[in-house]
Amino acid sequence: MLISIKLVQVIKKRLLLFITDFYNFITSKAKINITKKSNTMDPNVERFMATIKAKNPGESEFHQAVHEVAESLIPFIEENPKYKHAKILERLSEPERVILFRVPWLDDKGEIQLNKGYRIEMNSAIGPYKGGLRFHPTVNLGILKFLAFEQVLKNSLTTLPMGGGKGGSDFDPKGKTDNEVMRFCQSFMTELSRHIGPNTDIPAGDIGVGGREIGFMFGQYKRLRNEFTGVLTGKAIQWGGSLIRPEATGYGATYFAQNMLETRGDSLKGKTVVISGSGNVAQFATEKVTELGGKVVTLSDSAGYIYDPAGIDKEKLAYVMELKNVKRGRIKEYAEKYGVEYLEGKRPWEVKCDVAMPNATENEINEQDAKTLIKNGCFCISEGANMPSAPAAINAYIEAKILYGPGKAANAGGVAVSGLEMTQNSMRLSWTREEVDAKLQSIMKDIHDTCVKYGTENSGYINYVTGANIGGFLKVADSMLAQGVV
Ligand code: NDP
Repeated sequence: MLISIKLVQVIKKRLLLFITDFYNFITSKAKINITKKSNTMDPNVERFMATIKAKNPGESEFHQAVHEVAESLIPFIEENPKYKHAKILERLSEPERVILFRVPWLDDKGEIQLNKGYRIEMNSAIGPYKGGLRFHPTVNLGILKFLAFEQVLKNSLTTLPMGGGKGGSDFDPKGKTDNEVMRFCQSFMTELSRHIGPNTDIPAGDIGVGGREIGFMFGQYKRLRNEFTGVLTGKAIQWGGSLIRPEATGYGATYFAQNMLETRGDSLKGKTVVISGSGNVAQFATEKVTELGGKVVTLSDSAGYIYDPAGIDKEKLAYVMELKNVKRGRIKEYAEKYGVEYLEGKRPWEVKCDVAMPNATENEINEQDAKTLIKNGCFCISEGANMPSAPAAINAYIEAKILYGPGKAANAGGVAVSGLEMTQNSMRLSWTREEVDAKLQSIMKDIHDTCVKYGTENSGYINYVTGANIGGFLKVADSMLAQGVV
């Protein structure tokens, strides 16, 4: 009996040991996994992003934009705890105000149409809210919050005193008559006018909002408020606009490409350039690249792209401008007119080039596109559009150590000249084309130098993403610290 009790005790002990060993084996594996995971993802970034996602559910573009910035800024903030204690990044990621409204309007048949209107007043630490209006059927809160968030850092980079905002509507100007666009714009501005003003919030154009739409909105604002002020930028020169404002984003992104190339003793001269889009930014990037001796071989719209190996020269660009801005036609018609290839439903990143300028919309370059560009010899990317490269594409550029100018730095020329338009409005005078262009070039150079200052790695590689994020952050963060908890 005694023997059998002893035997049970031994078996029990052995079993317990076995279980303990097994448990230790499993948990040690888990520990290795956790260590491996934390090697690839900063846990502070992970924690921060978990809160952003919980507070802003379903806003994937906003999460993407904040994540990219958090990856650069959180390590920097950890080294500079004054920003951490004041929760600057958390406050930067929360709009100061979000305005949502109904936009009813009558179409040409007399039927009532209904759209959503938005204005995100993101941050006013360094100046009044400033940023464009987008009219496109894909517009939603998450997209506008991503654009407004980017705008805060971008505006800070310009060195001008402008806060950040963005707005727009899910209205689609495509296929609408001028009268329908006018009625929509008037209804949109009737509500928006309560919230904006030349010292409060100064909207501009973006996708789907060009000179025509700015004109209709400015007219309605003036009528409602009985005042002629610089409440919008992108106005025509006869009624308060600035020379070079239409050109500014495309020219600026081209100057930025040139600045990046100069760091490697190179230039745009003789380079083959692939451009997406055929709207405002794409048109003026094409003009400036050609002027600086490069050859633009593609343009696109949402239906496909044209490939013109001989290059889109001055005369062909004039045709594109007439086609897109006046006739409001499709890029396919270029291929028919000049007898070149049109690739339906495709994006131009498969075309061999030295320089690529994505000038259409967000996430238009995925990881595969990026790898194709690099494999084909592309070594410089300057983004005229906002967030056109997906995160995996950006990783591919940085791994390949090519020159990569992210939108918030490379396309800041547009808002910079908007800032110059505001200055001219306040002073009630107009600068010449040459004066504004010289100021634009000098601002783009300053932005480039800021990126170099904060983005140069030990290896000498300039990480423009880190440079733009930290460079844009500092001025806003220090102003927020000085202004207290507001
Ligand atoms: P436009 O409306 O003038 O042109 C947009 C162009 O992009 C069109 O060719 C359009 O084709 C194409 N496009 C739009 N949406 C899509 C889509 N989902 N897929 C493929 N192609 C698309 O806009 P802008 O040129 O003003 O703006 C282009 C980009 O530049 C945007 O990212 C904008 O935020 C950014 N930007 C613009 C500034 C400005 O000053 N205008 C300033 C800073 C940045 P389609 O006609 O078929 O829709």
